[in-house]
Amino acid sequence: MIRKLVGFLLLNICVTLASAQGAKPATAKPTLPDIYLITIDTLRADHVRCYGATNVDTPALDSLAQDGIRFSQAFTPSPITNTSHTTILTGLLPSVHGVTDFGIPLASTHTTWAEFLKQKKYKTAAFIGAVILDAKTLAPGLDRGFDFFDYFPATPPSKSRWGRVERRGGDVIEHAEKWLSTNRLGPHFVWAHLYDPHDPYEAPAPFSEKYKDRPYDGEVAYADSVVGGFIGYLKKAGLYQDSIVIVVGDHGEGLGEHGEETHGIFLYDSTTHVPLIVKPARSTGGPKVVEAQVRTIDLLPTILELVGIPIPSQLNGESLKSYLTGKGENDRVAIGETDYPLRFGWAPLRSIRTQGRKYIESPKSEFYDLKQDPGERKNLFANGGPELDNLKQVLTETRNKIGDAPHAENAALPDPKDKIEEQNLLHRAMLASDDNRINDARVSLEEVLKLDAKSPTALRQLGELELQTEHHQKAAEYLKRSLDVRPDDPTAAYELGQALEKSGDFAGARDALEKSLKSLPGQLPARILLGNVYLALKDVKAAQDQFEAATLVDSNSTEAQIGLARSVLASGNSSDAIAQLQALAKAQPDDPAVFEALAEAYKAAGKQAEYEKAIEHANALRKKSAA
Ligand SMILES: [Zn+2]
Repeated sequence: MIRKLVGFLLLNICVTLASAQGAKPATAKPTLPDIYLITIDTLRADHVRCYGATNVDTPALDSLAQDGIRFSQAFTPSPITNTSHTTILTGLLPSVHGVTDFGIPLASTHTTWAEFLKQKKYKTAAFIGAVILDAKTLAPGLDRGFDFFDYFPATPPSKSRWGRVERRGGDVIEHAEKWLSTNRLGPHFVWAHLYDPHDPYEAPAPFSEKYKDRPYDGEVAYADSVVGGFIGYLKKAGLYQDSIVIVVGDHGEGLGEHGEETHGIFLYDSTTHVPLIVKPARSTGGPKVVEAQVRTIDLLPTILELVGIPIPSQLNGESLKSYLTGKGENDRVAIGETDYPLRFGWAPLRSIRTQGRKYIESPKSEFYDLKQDPGERKNLFANGGPELDNLKQVLTETRNKIGDAPHAENAALPDPKDKIEEQNLLHRAMLASDDNRINDARVSLEEVLKLDAKSPTALRQLGELELQTEHHQKAAEYLKRSLDVRPDDPTAAYELGQALEKSGDFAGARDALEKSLKSLPGQLPARILLGNVYLALKDVKAAQDQFEAATLVDSNSTEAQIGLARSVLASGNSSDAIAQLQALAKAQPDDPAVFEALAEAYKAAGKQAEYEKAIEHANALRKKSAA
């Protein structure tokens, strides 16, 4: 109340002064600044020149730091893309926003950065560089509040990873510039995500040449050049000076430190220390460096304060406005969380970093003196001591406060430190599969099984790989072994159903699919396959039940309609089946499966001429769709 009154008085004085000097009319509304948020994926702070790197050129980031505030000690709570970006865009810790793995929808109760800015009538747009942040597939809810969200195409333009799973930074920015040039009226909030430094490291020339022996740095230098291009565009368009520009890394990269090649599993500084540069609107006073420890959860509250939106008390971060103006710069407690190890059956980690110390809670906990040991190599946990006790206590209190209760069963899981070699191999296998290098993937996965014969992830992925290459019996063996370790995995059970169906074991396929659907009932393809398996088993009633259930999942499913008609046919009523399929053929004139089913029905009815015509038509459609 008092603050409001003071604000009111100040405003009056200013208005009076302005009028007296014949300046802007008193009725002019203050304009809100454009906000450009650039997140650079997988960017380690110490691989940026203004953060001390000596052999990577990052002139754009260095010059942005000259125009604003460089936070030398900024930390992400999460070392993995979807989670860390959701944290930036909601101001919430991972355990609070709940997006702790790919594909988990962001609950509508959590307001996003873009939604907040819509309250101030911002024009909002998001440009993503990787399909893992696509709100239509792997990041549901992340598009909330955006007038425009640059989704990936539903049908990929080619088999290459470019355009299918990743866009080059240059393309991301080109799309953003195009949007800005057709949406002139602001204020604007634009989020651009540059995925380039994420592996595989494949920078374009000349960076690929210049950094031939350090391909990660080549990607960093390339991403920097893209930032430089965008800032050049903003300057040319007259948008730079009055806008807020933020560049932040979503997390770092292990690069082999602590045995971690990439990121996601550990909470060491190699993957949690990120660059953060903020150029305020109408910046004056030259460059400034803030040495205090801050967090990416602080970004959203900062923006809210800067544009005059009240900061909701449930946000986990706090505004950095006083840091921007140099009026207050205390170290903030940085919490780290990763549930990503759970995906592989290993224990999740929590950490707390403050005043030069870090405590990592895990089955084999760690404690580091970061001043003496910035590389976190000497674990002092066994020594104990009051500093460790204090960090433990603050971490426990924080977890209680945010409702991040430890799960007792996690304590029995393997410590990720003992599993990192497996994780590196699994990751290599994933990249190899993405690139269709099937043999490389197989070799890496078999290596994992040498380290842990019961790795459910490796077993399942080997099963998937053999399924894909049509070694159905081998696939079934791996998938059965995977299910022995993790019996409740609906995907492995569905895939086992596919492998058994292909190898003609219909009873086995039925059991696997029933099991899969019991734990995850909404799977349409599994439902339809089970219907077909029941038809193969001559259990018409059960088949019909499955196809009917499939139409409840998706009433437009052509496959479910075909299945229903085939059940009618299997019950001996060929004329009804023909009528149903003829109607379906009218609605779906380009679907060869409809005409194949129709041919089957004609054949059963003894209509040879119609049968041949339908088969011919189905073959022509198949040829057409293959072309
Ligand atoms: Zn990332």
